[in-house]
Amino acid sequence: MQSQGTQSVDDMSRSFALTTKLDAIVAWGQRNALWPLPYGTACCGIELMSVMGPKYDLARFGAEVVRFSPRQADLLLVAGTITEKMAPILVRIYEQMLEPKYVLSMGACASSGGFYRAYHVLQGCDKVIPVDVYVPGCPPTPEAVLDGVMTLQKMIKDRTPRPWKDYWTSPLLSGGSNAGLPGQMFAESGRVIGALPKVVAP
Ligand code: SF4
Repeated sequence: MQSQGTQSVDDMSRSFALTTKLDAIVAWGQRNALWPLPYGTACCGIELMSVMGPKYDLARFGAEVVRFSPRQADLLLVAGTITEKMAPILVRIYEQMLEPKYVLSMGACASSGGFYRAYHVLQGCDKVIPVDVYVPGCPPTPEAVLDGVMTLQKMIKDRTPRPWKDYWTSPLLSGGSNAGLPGQMFAESGRVIGALPKVVAP
């Protein structure tokens, strides 16, 4: 004996049909349920907070569930200056994130070292991890960050090839017993294909 509610759902399901491809519906779910991990190290991290706030409201794009555990996140938001000492930690966090994982580099410092043309600052986080979208600015406006997230969503929807990720190898893996030491990482980072991506949010 069916309840009235169950009966009406049954009736409704007979009145229409939805056809799609499995890949398309999986991509729909992935792009509308990104779980970001904010790696905020400097002023861009503060700007990122406003993206999460009620005015700009990243929740409208399904990416408001901020996680501080990499094992619960699939979008790494690198926001701020990355020093050489932080680089191994950034790599470790990236390695621990869930697949398929994405990286958005927010601002000049994360993307290129910014105005810190100095020995102790990583000249772009793509020296050690594969970056999908770069958002320029110092700091980028919240609108620019939202545009970066939308760019990433389009990449997921279109299943844009990501050779920078496919061919990425961890700088920590080849470091042997010195793995994780900044000097070692720099010595190895020339092999990292992470320097290839060129998707830039306007
Ligand atoms: S890009 Fe500008 S705002 Fe962002 S962390 Fe660097 S100096 Fe700060």
